[in-house]
Amino acid sequence: MRAPIREVFVSAQGEGPYVGYRQIFVRFPRCNLECKYCDTPRDWDAERKCKVELRPGTGEFVDFDNPVSEEQLLGIIKSYERIHSVSLTGGEPLLYAKFIKELKPSKFPLYLETNMTLPEGAREVKDVVKYVSGDFKLQGQCDFKGHYEKYFNDTARSFSILRHTSFRDCFCKIIVSRDVKRDEVLHAVDQIKDCITELILQPVTPVNGVEAATPKQLFELQEAAMDKVETVRIIPQTHKMWGAL
Ligand code: SF4
Repeated sequence: MRAPIREVFVSAQGEGPYVGYRQIFVRFPRCNLECKYCDTPRDWDAERKCKVELRPGTGEFVDFDNPVSEEQLLGIIKSYERIHSVSLTGGEPLLYAKFIKELKPSKFPLYLETNMTLPEGAREVKDVVKYVSGDFKLQGQCDFKGHYEKYFNDTARSFSILRHTSFRDCFCKIIVSRDVKRDEVLHAVDQIKDCITELILQPVTPVNGVEAATPKQLFELQEAAMDKVETVRIIPQTHKMWGAL
């Protein structure tokens, strides 16, 4: 099986509870959503090569033809050492769920970063991913084209499918901008609180005119969410602070 891949590189995880761990990042192109704060370029077409950084941190890339086979990707992953896990990111990696399912013999565990709106994809990969960083998108954060209720329900279903088990850690990340409504966050948390090990409130990195939440807002939200989930942490995007990819 093959899938288009934008790039493969090594960096430190910049978000959530595994911040700082060294990971291989496999970035897939395309997404089924258009979030206002998205910082992933959408300018990708099938003619583009997959750029692979063979030596971590060098910024020196070699090109692989797209689409890439799972054997090729497993070979690239195997060439690295001292890696915590393989971050499958995007875009939206669950658009390529059947391909991800074939990565099961990976040398390092798989860490899925997903918007959680594709439950059928979640079902495909549930037995192969060891870590799930799942977003819960709020109304107003993306263009849901009038179908937010469907996305909301699909997100709850995906969390149920990829829930925390003895094999898999699943946590939820909610992006917090200044216009986020407290009750909406708490309603979302109510749907998934039994599926996750912890909730991460991630203050938005201001982009495209989206404003950062204030510290007061974040503390109030954390306080309220702790009534529902035992561990609620406020963790910003750290890789942006030190200029990492
Ligand atoms: S889900 Fe992620 S990749 Fe997709 S548009 Fe939103 S922020 Fe960007």
